[in-house]
Amino acid sequence: MSIKKIILSENEIPTAWYNIVADMPNKPLPPLNPATKQALNPEDLENVFGKELIRQEMSQDKWIEIPDEVRDLYKIWRPTPLVRATELEKALDTPARIYFKNEGVSPVGSHKLNSALPQAYYNKKQGIKRLTTETGAGQWGAALSFACSVFGLGLDVFMVKVSYGQKPYRRSMMQTWGADVVASPSNLTESGRKILQKDPNNSGSLGIAISEAVEMAVRDPETRYTLGSVLNHVILHQTVIGLEAEKQMEIAGEFPDIIIGCFGGGSNFSGISFPFLRHQLTKGQNVRIIAAEPASCPKLSRGKFEYDFGDTVGLTPLLPMYTLGHDFQPADIHAGGLRYHGAGTIVSQLCKDGFVEVQDIPQLETFEAGMLFANTEGIIPAPESTHAIASAIREAKKAKEEGKAKSILFCLSGHGLIDMSAYDQYLAGTMRNYALSDEEISKSTDSLEAIASRFLI
Ligand SMILES: *Cc1c(COP(=O)(O)O)cnc(C)c1O
Repeated sequence: MSIKKIILSENEIPTAWYNIVADMPNKPLPPLNPATKQALNPEDLENVFGKELIRQEMSQDKWIEIPDEVRDLYKIWRPTPLVRATELEKALDTPARIYFKNEGVSPVGSHKLNSALPQAYYNKKQGIKRLTTETGAGQWGAALSFACSVFGLGLDVFMVKVSYGQKPYRRSMMQTWGADVVASPSNLTESGRKILQKDPNNSGSLGIAISEAVEMAVRDPETRYTLGSVLNHVILHQTVIGLEAEKQMEIAGEFPDIIIGCFGGGSNFSGISFPFLRHQLTKGQNVRIIAAEPASCPKLSRGKFEYDFGDTVGLTPLLPMYTLGHDFQPADIHAGGLRYHGAGTIVSQLCKDGFVEVQDIPQLETFEAGMLFANTEGIIPAPESTHAIASAIREAKKAKEEGKAKSILFCLSGHGLIDMSAYDQYLAGTMRNYALSDEEISKSTDSLEAIASRFLI
């Protein structure tokens, strides 16, 4: 009989996060102050982010200790199960062994809580009273709402307008945990008003919501901004996923040939893959890591590697990354968490250096994969996670053609029980794919100033 799932005990929750920067052959380029185009001073960020989070953002230490208070809260749902998708394997009649790390068991339904708790903790410890943030599908907003509730912090969430309409129950969840939620673009900020003036029907984007949340935070000395993806410290916190998976795969007697994560800004992808990639960087042990991104928002495969803003209005530092341009407006796909124009700095550098493979997946293929997964393993996956499943299915089919018994590990970043309206659309046959022409991409990337080349010489 084969193993179905591997569950670790509480004392096997990692005691430190893994910082891959320490092992990277080419370190990420520095973030820049947009006014001077010079490397940013950490102090420049102190009115935006908590101090310890800035320290982690810049750190080159290989291991960063997880505070006991955070580890204790991780125990609410961690360690998460590693499951072998035996029923999916049977349906695909593949020789591949498919494993998934189930981050959907967290109380908020996704991996986002792994970073929300430490971000709230460090801000609280510093004496901050209130946080602001943006959210797409509402997963990050929900996670941070719970984290703020635990640590007694106030919270303002700017929720992308299209998702505010599509996912009303995520708004209810955030409100249940005490957050103030507003649809973005809103009239509460200069950034929001500027966008609405130009386009009153703007359906919003993560980039716009970030502009609003940053603006709101810098107005008040006791408020700080938080981000649920992209940044180095977020990716750092998410390595608990891969560190646990590493132990679990070892128990299963495996080192994965292929590791897959869906890709929004890169946090769950990095979280599951970096602890394994470390063996390649330090010991030459080969592993293929695949980022599964939406065909309608393909920053890694069709974006430019260049300095760009993290938000639409241009309030953040300039970050070196693969980007579709900060004013790129992604199609209204259901995977709200993947509708972001850029990729994290660390993943971008690793991708540039050839360590990351990318697959672009059309929306209908992702929902077909989600349906197959739901009807074999029983779990209804988040629309974002279906991208990873679709990619795993592609690889399992390839393994069958090649007759190779590869082992595949993917991150199930969240469950889809709050996303049923998306499944309704799929079942009604009204869901569609969105094509994206090169001209459309050029429109938002041509205006990017060529800065990165200065640093690459
Ligand atoms: C936010 C989210 C993502 C995308 O964000 P990453 O930082 O790329 O991981 C993926 N899946 C789920 C369930 C999410 O909530």
